[in-house]
Amino acid sequence: MAEILVLGAGMIGICSALELQARGHVVTLADRSAPGRETSFGNAGVIQAEAAEPYALPRDPRILLSYLLGRGNDVSWSIAGLLRMAPALWSYYRHSLPERHRRISQVYAQLTVRATEDHAPLIAAAGAGNLIAHDGMILAYRERRGLEAASRDAERLYRLYGVTSRTLDAAALKAEEPALAGDVAGAVHMLQSWSCSDPGGLCTAYADLFRQRGGHIMVADASTLSQDRSGWTVRGPEARIQAEKVVVALGPWSPALLRRFGLRVPMVLKRGYHAHFSAPRALRRPLLDTGSGIVAASMRGGLRLATGAAIVPHEAAPKPRQLDRGARRIAEIIDVGQRIDAQPWIGTRPCLPDMLPLVGAAPGVPGMWVNFGHGHQGFTLR
Ligand SMILES: Cc1cc2nc3c(=O)[nH]c(=O)nc-3n(C[C@H](O)[C@H](O)[C@H](O)COP(=O)(O)OP(=O)(O)OC[C@H]3O[C@@H](n4cnc5c(N)ncnc54)[C@H](O)[C@@H]3O)c2cc1C
Repeated sequence: MAEILVLGAGMIGICSALELQARGHVVTLADRSAPGRETSFGNAGVIQAEAAEPYALPRDPRILLSYLLGRGNDVSWSIAGLLRMAPALWSYYRHSLPERHRRISQVYAQLTVRATEDHAPLIAAAGAGNLIAHDGMILAYRERRGLEAASRDAERLYRLYGVTSRTLDAAALKAEEPALAGDVAGAVHMLQSWSCSDPGGLCTAYADLFRQRGGHIMVADASTLSQDRSGWTVRGPEARIQAEKVVVALGPWSPALLRRFGLRVPMVLKRGYHAHFSAPRALRRPLLDTGSGIVAASMRGGLRLATGAAIVPHEAAPKPRQLDRGARRIAEIIDVGQRIDAQPWIGTRPCLPDMLPLVGAAPGVPGMWVNFGHGHQGFTLR
């Protein structure tokens, strides 16, 4: 009998299992597929030590209007998505009030500032150092005004949280990133972030480490979870797994499971797409092109172009307009080459309205713990 069952083998579940194991517990990690095949697989791979402030919902009516009119490419939405998530979005809007966001960021910054330090021993123990670069990330701006504002904001982040950066003009940026060819005003180079050339591969390496240290990984469907006097049970194709305690780490699927146990957790599901391109020149570090709303990162599988947020229902059919539009726009400044994947990858950022992950004992459900809702930075926050 497993002492603790962790449901969900994304970055969060795998690292929860490793932490519990390190504290001497007997742990089983269960997922319906192999570890790290969902959201933790397809992200932009940045370990974002720079992300001291979680993404707030903009409150400037001009920005909200441009989202509603679909003018920018960083956010898109569907009516079904807005209606389904209306209560969560309203709560998100209220938590985005400047004073609240400031207080939330004070907590968040404590998590992001230690992110690379937290990953470092696992990367070393898992022998995954070859997947990691320590060169920061680039926020590129096409207009001088945008660059100046970003540079001032970077100084503010340094004063408040010690986030370090440097501002590069167009010439300096192109010297650093020879793959950049088009018209750019310059960039802010965030210095402390790390990047991973294969996010799914890092999850696999961490899962292998968990196994080497004596942990069990099983295939099981979390929707079969039940509780009786002896503890928790889930069923898989080959075995039933029983445990005294359970940790729900199902990322965007967590609220659906908790509803069965009487817990309602509002979540804003922010879908993202990616596809790989054959780009003849690699980027040295991940680059957010603010002009296209795309993060471009050189990965093992090619140049990965990852999109911003689409507010759509979890089960909605793929509509990769943001990816297609973003790929055309970023091609103005980088030679992205030929598209490699015919079908885009889809993943969902599990965002809670207060922008903080939910970690702790589930209220009113003895023996159940939760660890989910890491939003835009779940690969970082592990
Ligand atoms: C386009 C994009 C770019 C991003 N870029 C970054 C980035 O650069 N840096 C960063 O820090 N974060 C980034 N993120 C966010 C990050 O990827 C997520 O926050 C993180 O992966 C969430 O991890 P998780 O373990 O909670 O969820 P997941 O990785 O989704 O894991 C949940 C697991 O639950 C399993 N599961 C679901 N239902 C069941 C069931 N019924 N039974 C059994 N198992 C089940 C799934 O198979 C899955 O393995 C990005 C996200 C997107 C979409």
